[in-house]
Amino acid sequence: QARLLFPLIALMRVALDLQTSGALFARIFEYLDLRPAIVDAPDAAPLPAHAPRLGEVEFDGVTFRYPDARGVDRATLDDVSFTIEPGQYAAFVGPSGAGKTTVSYLIPRFYEASSGAVRFAGHDVRDLDRESLVSHIGVVSQETYLFHATIAENLRYAKPDATDEELEAAARSANIHATIAGFPDGYDTVVGERGYRLSGGEKQRIAIARVLLKDPEVLILDEATSALDTISERVVQQALDTAAHGRTTIAIAHRLSTVVAADVIYVVDGGRIVEHGTHAELLAAGGAYARLYAEQAAAPSPARRG
Ligand code: ADP
Ligand code: MG
Repeated sequence: QARLLFPLIALMRVALDLQTSGALFARIFEYLDLRPAIVDAPDAAPLPAHAPRLGEVEFDGVTFRYPDARGVDRATLDDVSFTIEPGQYAAFVGPSGAGKTTVSYLIPRFYEASSGAVRFAGHDVRDLDRESLVSHIGVVSQETYLFHATIAENLRYAKPDATDEELEAAARSANIHATIAGFPDGYDTVVGERGYRLSGGEKQRIAIARVLLKDPEVLILDEATSALDTISERVVQQALDTAAHGRTTIAIAHRLSTVVAADVIYVVDGGRIVEHGTHAELLAAGGAYARLYAEQAAAPSPARRG
């Protein structure tokens, strides 16, 4: 799905007037045409900034098929249930095509469950105003889009009224301030298509700084380091750990070394959660996770896409 993001960069240049990160986030996926328009219920309610149970994410018997998956008899997600408590670090692991990214799409309601319910802060996401819902969610995925605009402008999409000090603080936490400060034009360096060429790791750290400015209660990391070489991966992983601190984090990981410390690990295979528990519990259980872990320990996989 990362490849789909490239035409987006050109399309996004027409969308420079977006007011909120919520609108930005929703707009990105509209341009991607991932789904037919998801319409809010007439009585859809916004989720207030200080709603109780903010940060809680629950799937309750969720089954899902992609609308365009004709002829596919098996559901993409099949009776998936879990509850992630506010502040928990939950990891999703499993083979490519298992349905991990699809789980992440259903949380901001890019798609709706075919049956069962996705609840955010205890509310069925179908009852929530979608722009308000996405304002509580931040995403860092495999490849980051940057607008053809300055770094400061790219960061301010997350928080239009952010001060220079706030930009710098976010960039420091994301391990990217020193790099930006070293560019000839600093935060005014124009990036994106035909702009200053940033490395993959630099782009990811700008994406992380942007998420820190947005300061969402729920952070989704979808293989955020999988396209990076080992050295940038380490720096970006540090920035991700900082970003995860103090908020619910849903980390989709291909490298199991990053999930060892998770509060809970869900193993997804064929659209179902086949196991869950801590790293120690799952190793002791000697099931699918233990096998995946043994495989990776035997042959550490190089950076890959998938
Ligand atoms: P993972 O992230 O675990 O690799 P995905 O959630 O991306 O898996 O995909 C799960 C399944 O859904 C795969 O079989 C994939 O081909 C299919 N799929 C993903 N996106 C779409 C889509 N937009 N339309 C139809 N099928 C899709
Ligand atoms: Mg995926």
